[in-house]
Parts: sequence; structure tokens; C-alpha cells
Amino acid sequence: MGPLQIKDILQTSPENQSVTVKGWVRTKRESKNAIFIALNDGSTIHNIQAVAEPGQFSAELLSTVTTGSCLKITGQLVESQGSGQAVEVKIDDILVYGTADPESFPLQPKKHSLEFLREIAHLRPRTNTFSAILRIRHALAFAVHQYFNDGGFFYLHTPVITASDAEGAGEMFRVTTLDLNKLPRTEEGAINFKEDFFGREANLTVSGQLEGELGAMALSKIYTFGPTFRAENSNTTRHLAEFWMIEPEMAFFELEDNMNLAEDFVKKVITYALIHCKDDLNFLQNRLAEEDKNKPQNERSIPLLEKLSFVVDNPFERLTYTEAIEILLKSKPHKEKKFQYPVGWGIDLSSEHERYLVEKHFKKPVILTNYPKEIKSFYMKLDEDGKTVRAMDVLFPGIGEIIGGSQREEDYDKLLGRVKEVGIDPDNLWWYLETRKFGTAPHSGFGLGFERLVLFVTGMSNIRDVIPFPRYPKSAEF
Ligand code: ATP
Ligand code: MN
Repeated sequence: MGPLQIKDILQTSPENQSVTVKGWVRTKRESKNAIFIALNDGSTIHNIQAVAEPGQFSAELLSTVTTGSCLKITGQLVESQGSGQAVEVKIDDILVYGTADPESFPLQPKKHSLEFLREIAHLRPRTNTFSAILRIRHALAFAVHQYFNDGGFFYLHTPVITASDAEGAGEMFRVTTLDLNKLPRTEEGAINFKEDFFGREANLTVSGQLEGELGAMALSKIYTFGPTFRAENSNTTRHLAEFWMIEPEMAFFELEDNMNLAEDFVKKVITYALIHCKDDLNFLQNRLAEEDKNKPQNERSIPLLEKLSFVVDNPFERLTYTEAIEILLKSKPHKEKKFQYPVGWGIDLSSEHERYLVEKHFKKPVILTNYPKEIKSFYMKLDEDGKTVRAMDVLFPGIGEIIGGSQREEDYDKLLGRVKEVGIDPDNLWWYLETRKFGTAPHSGFGLGFERLVLFVTGMSNIRDVIPFPRYPKSAEF
């Protein structure tokens, strides 16, 4: 399909055959005996080296072959004289598709900070780091679909525009076609949303779960994988305003089945990346090791591939919220008042607590279950004690919460009671409540933030660096 890519050419055995390579110049190096051009087309982390003789091309042409320019090179594929690669291209001809003026092209062959690269998100996919991340992101997305397809799940496309707030948490982006300068008013003076596009208030979805449940109550096992929006003004390294969420929802699954699925699912998709993204993961591992060189020994992280293999090879620790609180109460940082936030039964664990459990106490991923109902969503199934719900959060080292899920309340009266208790108007959720009236069944599901998974697998530290064009407060440039 189309021209050969550098990834394929690098795998071809050199027999002086003629080849055409197309890509962007990473570096050009001139020595007494040869001119070396390193070309990359994004198909692999590896560049292909193309070699010309001094004097073979005019100085005028060579002056346009600079970092960032785009070339078509034809030549012969030969065994490489150098040590860095198996094959190289002996250049016959160069066509410059597009120049990149070195005075203004921002990506010069030196180390750029991730902060700077965020400001040039239109060009950063051309760096080794970002192209590696984007290829891994792709592989993980593919693995997600493969995993569910193989497991008999159906991909359900839930709406992006909704009139319900699944979490009941606010933090939504409004969707409207009303003229903000001439808002229609009701007699009481409120904004008259009857005149808006949908005849009611509408927002971008914060989760596909509620509609996902409708699908599960017909197809048994479904998953969604789509963009999700949260207007939370949290300027953290783990939150985006627009992120991709994977939400499986399964009829006839109880909490235990849900945990088993979540654990197996994350392990399988990470394994897929370990098998199919070796070169990119190696590159990122070396990059991290390079960064770590400046840190004291005890602050250095374990090598990326080792960390991923560890997660894949070991069972996650499972315990209840109540047990976790007991551990935290007995912990050193609690006794020495080192936690910023107080610990006690009923608190919403903050990320310092989660990270203590995962990184210090258990030293592996943890699944926490049976949280107090007050800190969880209305749709979670109430435990017999009436105090806790069948929630499960999967916590990962360096990330904190990567998955949030639960067994859903299938009892109509209990669910209606919770809806009212948390102050949601049941009329807005009539369709959701009806699934509990007509053929209700035990069911469960969870949400995995795709970028948090990519963050973990790539070993990056800021979620803004694992999505091509991040959306966060005061930023939607590209
Ligand atoms: P957190 O406490 O970390 O904000 P949450 O409790 O709001 O997470 P859920 O509503 O349970 O998260 O959403 C399910 C999953 O979606 C989370 O486990 C996380 O992986 C991901 N997620 C949630 N909010 C964001 C966000 N703003 N950006 C990226 N991923 C997110
Ligand atoms: Mn949140």
C-alpha cells in the first residue's frame, strides 16, 4: 500500500537494489569523505542513513537539506559501512519536497524541554520522544479493541452530546447554539433553553456509562471508547479537559468478575505493547535513564520495561477501603503528620494516600473496593451494611487512580432512593431508571482513562504529553 516506508526498508536485505525513501531530515553531517543524511518518516523510531559523496550535489541544493526539511531520495540499498545500522542508501538523487529554514524551524537536533514542545504541539510528533509515544498510543488503542472483540464485547458508540450528567458532579462543558449576546429569557427571567438547539440544556459527555448500561442490558457485554470531557479546573499532571475513556459494561458480572476483568484487561494491553512496541519502549526507557542520571540513587525509577513486566507478572493487591484506611492510620507518614490531608474512615482518598498504598506499602497495583457511599456515585450497588457500595478503584504506581468502576445498583427502589438522595431529578433519568423496571439484572462496569494508561506505559510524567493535542485550562491552541 503506497510507497515503501523506512520501517520496511530497514528490514530489507541490501543487494544494491534501487530504493526510494521519503521522509524528514533529522540531521545532516558532512565529513571529508561523505555527507550523511538521517531521514525519518515516523514509521519507526529508527532513521535511515543516506550517504552522498562530497561534490556529488551542488552547495545550493545541499544548503536546503537541513533538519526538518522533507526529501525524496533515490539510491541503492547497500550494507552500511557504519556501525549504527545494517543498511544505508547510497544516494543517486535528491528531491527537496519542502525546506525548513534553520533560522526559524524550532526543532533543532538538541534536547528540547517537554514544556517547550507543548508550545509547538504541531511539530512535536516529529521528535523521537513524541513519535514513540504516538506509536505506542496507537498500539494500545488497537489492543483495546482486539481484547474486547476477542472477549465477545460489542463496541457501542455512546453520544458525545448529552442532557444528563452521569457523575452528578457538574464540571461539564455546555453545548449551545444560543446567541450569548441575546439570550432568550423565560417570563421569570431565566435563560430559556427551550429555544436552544435541543430544546433543553445540553453538555459534552463526562462518561458514556449510563448509555453503556443500556447497551449491556441488551447485548450483555459492550464497551465504549471515545472522547470524554470534564471542565474540572484541575491543573494536575493527571487530568485533561478532553480525554479518551474506555468503558466496558457487562450484564451478569458482579464485583469480583469486574475486578478480574479489569486486571486481566490492563495486563493484556500492556503485554501487547511489550511485544509490539519494543523499539519505542526501549527508546523511552533510555530517555528516562538519561533523566535519572542527575538524580540521587534512591530517587531513580526502576527501568520502564522492568516496571511494565512487573505489573503484568504479579497479581494486583485487593483490599477494601476500610482495610486501606486502617493501613493508612498505622502508617509512618500519618503518625509523623507528613500527609497533607487528614486520614479517617469516610475521607475521599487523595492521591498522596493512594500513592502511599501502592508505592510504599504494597509496591504493586492495588484494587480498593467497598468505598463509603457518600464519596461515590449514586449508581453503585449498595452493600448489605447500607454504608458502603460495591465500588472498585484500580490504583497504579506513579498514577494513582487508573480505573474507577463498580457493580451497578440493579434494584429500582434502591436506585431511585439514591438518585433522590444525591439531589438528581429522577425525571431526567427516566430512561436509565426504566432498565431497572424492565428485566433488570446484576451488572457491572468500569472506566479506564486511556491517557492514564498511555502515561503509565510510556513512563512519561505529564498527561499533556501522551495525547497529540492536549486540552487543559487556558489551552486549546492546536
Ligand atoms: P480522579 O479522582 O483522578 O479525578 P475520577 O474519580 O474523577 O478520577 P472517574 O470519574 O471514575 O474518575 O473516571 C474514570 C477514569 O477516567 C479514571 O479512573 C481516570 O483514569 C480517568 N479520568 C478521570 N478524569 C480524568 C481527566 N480529567 N483526565 C484524564 N483522565 C481522567
Ligand atoms: Mn476527577
